[in-house]
Amino acid sequence: MSLLTVGSVAFDAIETPFGKTDKIVGGAGTYISLASSFFVGQQNIISVVGSDFPSEVLDEMNSRGIDTDGLQIKEGEKTFFWSGKYHNDMNSRDTLTTELNVLEHFDPIVPASYQDSSYVMLGNLSPLVQSKVVERMENRPKLIAMDTMNFWMDIAMDDLKKTISMVDVLILNDEEARQLTDEYALVTAAKKILKMGPSHVIVKKGEHGALLFSVDQMFFAPALPLAEVFDPTGAGDTFAGGFMGYIASTEDRSFENLKRAVIYGSAMASFCVEKFGTQRLLEVTQEDIINRVKEFSDLSSFDLNK
Ligand code: AMP
Repeated sequence: MSLLTVGSVAFDAIETPFGKTDKIVGGAGTYISLASSFFVGQQNIISVVGSDFPSEVLDEMNSRGIDTDGLQIKEGEKTFFWSGKYHNDMNSRDTLTTELNVLEHFDPIVPASYQDSSYVMLGNLSPLVQSKVVERMENRPKLIAMDTMNFWMDIAMDDLKKTISMVDVLILNDEEARQLTDEYALVTAAKKILKMGPSHVIVKKGEHGALLFSVDQMFFAPALPLAEVFDPTGAGDTFAGGFMGYIASTEDRSFENLKRAVIYGSAMASFCVEKFGTQRLLEVTQEDIINRVKEFSDLSSFDLNK
C-alpha cells in the first residue's frame, strides 16, 4: 500500500463572518496529505511551490510521514495564492483572487520511488496536470480518486472531462455536480457522472453531509452539527484525505468500506472547520478521531424496534 496525493500547496487569505487572515498556508494537497497522515504512516505528494514557501511547513509534513521528493521548489518564483470570502451561511463563498504563479506552467514529475503508489488522490489542480500524473505512472493504481472545482469547469471543461474518464471516484460538491452535468437533481447528476468513467461519485453538500453513489447503491453520511464553525476552507480536501487515507490503510474497495471511508472523511472535515486554515488539523489526535467517528455513528443510528 502506498498513497500518492497530487494537489496545490498554497498561500490562502480567508475572510469569514468570524474573522480574516493574511496569507496563511493552505492548498488542496496540504489539507489532503495532512488528513491522510492520520491513517497512513508513509505517503507521497506531487506539487510545486515557489522559494517564498516556508521550509518549516515542509519539515512538518515530513515529520508526519509525507515524502516531499515530488514537491518541486521553483527558485525565484511565487507560490500559488488563493483568497476567498464566505457568505453568512458559511456554505458558500466567493473566490476573490486566484494567482496561479508556479502552478501556471507546472510539469509534474513522478519520482521513481512513487511509481508503486497503489492509491492516488488527485486533489484540486489543473485537470491537465492531474491527467499527466496518471499517464506518467507505469502501472495503473488500484484506485484513483479525484477532486475538482468550478474554476476548472469554467476554463477547461474538455480537459476536465478527459481526466474524469480516467478515474474511479469523483469527489465534488453539489453545485459542481450540477454545473458539470446540467442536471438539478443530484441523483440524476450522479447517474450522468457514472457514465463518464468513474465507478463511484461522492457529492458533498457542506453542512448537509455527503452522498456516495455507485451504479446500483447509494449511501448518505450526515455532517456533524457543530457549535463552532470558523473556517470551512479545506474541508472538502480534508474530507478527501480522510476518505483516501482510510481506504489506503484498509486496502478494501468494497462499497461497505467506502461507506466507512466517507464517515472518516466527514469526521476529519469536521475538525478542519473548527479553526482557521490547517491549525486544527495539526492538533488532532488519534483519540479525537475515534471519538468523533463514534459521534457520527450515534448521530444517525436508531432502533426500528420498540
Ligand atoms: P476547499 O475549501 O476544500 O474547496 O479547498 C480550498 C483550498 O483549495 C485552498 O486552500 C486553496 O488554496 C485551494 N484552491 C483554490 N482554488 C484552487 C485552484 N484553482 N487550483 C488549485 N487549488 C485551489
